Amino acid sequence: MKIFNTLTRTKEEFVPIHPGKVGIYVCGPTVYDYIHIGNARPMIVFDTLRRYLEYKGYEVNYVSNFTDVDDKIIRRANEEGVDASVISERYIKEVKKDMQDMNVREATTHPKATEEIPDMIEMVKTLIEKGYAYEVNGTVYFRTRRFEEYGKLSKKNLDDLRSGNRSLLVSGEDEKEDALDFVLWKPKKEGEPSWPSPWGDGRPGWHLECSVMSKKYIGDIIDIHAGGEDLIFPHHENEIAQSEAANGKEFARYWMHNGFLKINNEKMSKSLGNFFTVREIAEQYPLQVIRFFMLSAHYRSPLNFSAELVEASKNGLERILTAVKRLDALSDEAKAANLTEPQKEQEQALQVYMDRFEAAMDDDLNTADAISVLFELIKYCNIHMDAQSPKGLLAQAAAAVKQICEILGIETETEQELLDSDIEALINERQEARKNKNFARADEIRNMLADMGILLEDTREGVKWKRA
Ligand code: AMP
Ligand code: ZN
Repeated sequence: MKIFNTLTRTKEEFVPIHPGKVGIYVCGPTVYDYIHIGNARPMIVFDTLRRYLEYKGYEVNYVSNFTDVDDKIIRRANEEGVDASVISERYIKEVKKDMQDMNVREATTHPKATEEIPDMIEMVKTLIEKGYAYEVNGTVYFRTRRFEEYGKLSKKNLDDLRSGNRSLLVSGEDEKEDALDFVLWKPKKEGEPSWPSPWGDGRPGWHLECSVMSKKYIGDIIDIHAGGEDLIFPHHENEIAQSEAANGKEFARYWMHNGFLKINNEKMSKSLGNFFTVREIAEQYPLQVIRFFMLSAHYRSPLNFSAELVEASKNGLERILTAVKRLDALSDEAKAANLTEPQKEQEQALQVYMDRFEAAMDDDLNTADAISVLFELIKYCNIHMDAQSPKGLLAQAAAAVKQICEILGIETETEQELLDSDIEALINERQEARKNKNFARADEIRNMLADMGILLEDTREGVKWKRA
């Protein structure tokens, strides 16, 4: 698979650090309110990446944090007169509900910043010991210029940054050695949550969280680090500086960034006020439609949110779900039979569509092209599969469409239990194929049944089967 790596600005062949395993870290939301559908884009895109890598046989360790200590959370807590943790716990629950409704799977681990403070303090200590950080009046800063590769992800030049940041020097942060230095630990202010540290009571800086949590749950080096493109600078640049300075190792191999979800060609964001929450949208559309809409564009392209485009996705999705239902219904009624020559060609055609789907996904997760292939596959099935098609072929066609939907995180909802009689019919078809020395067909039927959770065992008394 090729991945566009923001670090090199090129598509690179994906090679995991440990064969067969992938560690992915995705920067998660700050939990002070309901998420908007812009925030949903990285969730959906990188959940699809995870599903696809798992389909390809990788064991994926998927880590995505909740930023549960932050100015916005504290502000909201003060407004409501409650503890900051009341706000963050409330919205973590709401985010998880939205994720579930969008069919975004739970991460392997969803660390929370407030539960990882001791490790953050350790990393700050290491950075101070190594000369990469210093403390002034209870604040610890990262000495940006000490990290020579600073700017390598965002391709920013330190001197340009410096002139842009000069205003900071006169805005009360003149205790910094350099305007470019950023905060690792900030001292407690009245009414804010805080934790004891060697530099006094305080709380961690945002960038530090991700460096520490990715290290703890994945390791010093992570395979894929992902997030929205607004995080490239300064967030990800600072994560690299902290982690590489502290660990003395490369931080992340591949950096993936999704483009913005826009509305009227402006980035959807809380601060611009031009957003819809996932919850609001859920009142108008099943969230599957939103998921499908998000995947209809390549993840690096900007995507404009409009009622027409969502409506088009809704219609497209209905076409797919109708086709699955039709194939399932035909397959229920059909008889098992050996494939005729034209039917063998149809079987091969199904494989070609699957190969093309994979080729699109292998090309930097091109879900836009992958969905085009899915539509072609649906069209092919609608034209070529009918009541005369043998059961095995229909089941294979349905399985192909469902497999693609499963990778895209689209529920087909028609996954019926295979009837015992269907299973027996397929087993008989397999026995017949073996008798005719058509072992390829026999294996195919076994694999198809395995995909549907039916395990075969060849015994002396004949074929036994069970549901996995
Ligand atoms: P935040 O809570 O603002 O840190 O955002 C959480 C995630 O959503 C980050 O990965 C952001 O890059 C991403 N994000 C925020 N707004 C948008 C948008 N309009 N389009 C795409 N991604 C976004
Ligand atoms: Zn992060």
